[in-house]
Parts: sequence; C-alpha cells; structure tokens
Amino acid sequence: MFDYLIVGAGFAGSVLAERLASQLGKKILIIDTRSHIGGNAYDCFNDDGILIHKYGPHIFHTNSRDVFEYLSQFTQWRSYEHRVLASVDGQLVPIPINLDTVNRLYGLSLTSFQLEDFFASVAEPKEYIRTSEDVVVNKVGRELYEKFFRNYTRKQWDMDPSELDKSVTSRVATRTNRDNRYFTDTYQAMPLHGFTRMFEKMLSHPNIKVMLNADYREILDVIPFGKMIYTGPIDLFFNYRYGKLPYRSLEFKHETINTPVHQPVAVVNYPNEHLYTRVTEFKYLTGQEHPKTGIVYEFPRAQGDPYYPVPRSENAELYKKYKALADATPEVHFVGRLATYKYYNMDQVVAQALMVYKKIVEAGDDTSEKANRELARV
Ligand SMILES: Cc1cc2nc3c(=O)[nH]c(=O)nc-3n(C[C@H](O)[C@H](O)[C@H](O)COP(=O)(O)OP(=O)(O)OC[C@H]3O[C@@H](n4cnc5c(N)ncnc54)[C@H](O)[C@@H]3O)c2cc1C
Repeated sequence: MFDYLIVGAGFAGSVLAERLASQLGKKILIIDTRSHIGGNAYDCFNDDGILIHKYGPHIFHTNSRDVFEYLSQFTQWRSYEHRVLASVDGQLVPIPINLDTVNRLYGLSLTSFQLEDFFASVAEPKEYIRTSEDVVVNKVGRELYEKFFRNYTRKQWDMDPSELDKSVTSRVATRTNRDNRYFTDTYQAMPLHGFTRMFEKMLSHPNIKVMLNADYREILDVIPFGKMIYTGPIDLFFNYRYGKLPYRSLEFKHETINTPVHQPVAVVNYPNEHLYTRVTEFKYLTGQEHPKTGIVYEFPRAQGDPYYPVPRSENAELYKKYKALADATPEVHFVGRLATYKYYNMDQVVAQALMVYKKIVEAGDDTSEKANRELARV
C-alpha cells in the first residue's frame, strides 16, 4: 500500500513526493494526466533538437535562499537575467518602462530626475486604486498606459483593465533608471540541464512510483493508499459542486526557424498589433548552442488548459466556497496553483509545498522515528 497518493507531478506534487520519500521514508504514488512530469514547467527537445518549454517560457527567480538551496540539490544552474522588449510604435523598447523606454519612444534625452518629473506631469493621480487601469494611469499616465498595457491586458484577459483587479498590473514595475532586467530577485538562474532533468532527479527515489497518462479518479478504488496530496483543480475535486472556477488559457504555437538568432532578447511583447501577446526565443533561456532556433507564440484563449485564475471578486467568493469544502476534508492536503486557485510563480509553489511538508511533520501524523527526528530539526 502507498502511504500517499500525490495528484499532479508539477512543482507542488514533486517537492512533496521528494520530501516525504527521502525524509520520512514514505511510499509515494505520484500520478499525472499528462504524459510527462514537471507540470507546466516541463521542457523537452523538439524534433530539431532544440530545448523548448512546452507550456511557454518559465524563468526561475526567487528571493528565497531556502527555495534556491532546496532546488540546488537536484540541479546545477546557469546564471540568467531575463530581459523583455515591447514592440511599440515600430520600435523595440524595454519593459518594464524605464529611462531608455521613454527616451527612445519620444526621442528625448531625459535624466532619471527629469523622468520622475515627466511621470509626475503625465500621471493621473487616483485617490483609490481599485483596477488594473488605475494602477498604471496613476503611475505613468494615460498615453503610456494605452501604448503598453491597455491592449495587452485586453488580449490576455479579454477584459478591459478597468474591469480587472489591481493585482494584475501591480506586478509590473516602472523604473526611472536604466535597469532593464525584468526581475530584480536575488537569485535568477535556470536549471543547467533544464527543468525536466531537475524533476527526474527529484522523483528518482526508490520509494516514489510515477504514473502518467492517468487521472487520479481512475485509480482511486483500485490502488490502496493512506493519505492524499492534491495539486489539481480544486473545483474538479469537488465535482464542480458550486460551478466552474474561471481560468484564462493560452494556445502555444511553437516553430523552429532556420537561423541561429531570431530576436534580440528572450521575450518580445506585442501589446498592440498582433493576436499573440508575446514571442519567446528559448535559446536565451537555456543557453543552448544550435544552428537553428526555437520560438513560441502565445495566443490567449477562453478555453483550454487552466493557466491563469481570473482575478475578479466574484471568483474569489466562489473559491472561498471550495476552500471551505477543502478545510472540511483534512485527510487531503490541497497544494499548488490549481488547488488554491491562485497564480503563483514556481518559487512560491516550492515554498508552499515545503511549508505543507513542515506542517505534515509537525502535525505528527507520522510516528516513525525518522519523522520525529525531522520534527526536532524544524
Ligand atoms: C504560460 C505560463 C508561464 C509561466 N511562467 C513562469 C515563469 O516565468 N516563472 C515562474 O516562476 N512561474 C511561471 N509560471 C507559473 C508556473 O507554471 C507555476 O508556478 C507552477 O507550474 C505551478 O506548479 P503546480 O505544481 O502548482 O501546478 P502544475 O505545474 O500545473 O502541476 C499540476 C499538475 O496536476 C496535474 N493534474 C491536474 N488534474 C489532475 C488529475 N485529475 N489527475 C492527475 N493529474 C492531474 C496536471 O496535469 C499538472 O501537471 C508560468 C505559468 C504559465 C501558465
């Protein structure tokens, strides 16, 4: 009998499988409907031998030393600082908006101090910041909002930023210096041999069995197990009792191009003139050398795999109802982005999974000697 059935072999499921097997000696069955481990972070070589991210670009960045050190047990890293350009008014300019963005867009040569004054002169101060539009207009004014954010957000969410919670655009910084890095986290690096290789190492413990191409519901009555860790969609777990939690999806169009380099940085955003939102060239992320190059276009979709929870108050209310059901099901741990209906970066999911592991140990639902030793350590 397995001690734990873990549903989903993404970051949430794999971290817990690894901890429970390696630290507590638990017997684990980890199951995924997909044909591979790694969840959305899965990468693979395409037919031309180029390492690509099947579900869109995944860039690792974190401020958590614990998370970075934990993952470092399973991979070496290559330093990588992410940079993004936006195609606006026929130019490719840095995003997040910085000093170079404004100077190049308007043919100016402002200093950082002058840019602060520029922003102050164009900003439309809002007393209450409620929506995604409020966030941006309050900082950089309506014109830059229209050029960089409005249409991108409409494409991505099929909603005007004025209808979307402020959290969507709050993530995007604005700078008055020339820092053109997309992220400013302490640790910015990519797994040297890719994410999938890292997941393989995490799951290579003899106590962990991996079952792919299978929905957990197919095996519930067939394979005995003790407890469950669930990282799939929370509404599915409860048979959509209160209705479906809304998600935004993406369609990925992968291509190989017969040239070593396609674009000047890993990601180019297209806020305005195309149906896709961005184009990623993987070799920047992976460091792979190859005479050809692999790119992916992202087309936002209403239907498809659940990627982004739609941040509206009515959806948060609906999630609360499912959360109450989850709280009343203590034999199952709900972990990860789908089970908690929240957009998380990879490092946040790793941190969440490590926290759940710690709680499992602290709850003392394991009486083995090893668990007690672990408990004494945390
Ligand atoms: C387009 C895109 C780009 C992203 N880019 C970044 C980035 O650059 N940096 C970053 O830090 N984060 C990024 N993320 C977020 C990142 O993908 C997540 O943080 C991470 O994958 C979450 O891991 P998870 O284990 O919670 O979920 P997932 O990776 O989704 O794993 C859940 C797994 O559960 C499986 N499952 C679901 N239902 C069932 C079932 N009934 N039975 C069996 N298995 C089931 C699914 O098949 C899936 O494999 C991005 C996300 C998207 C969508």
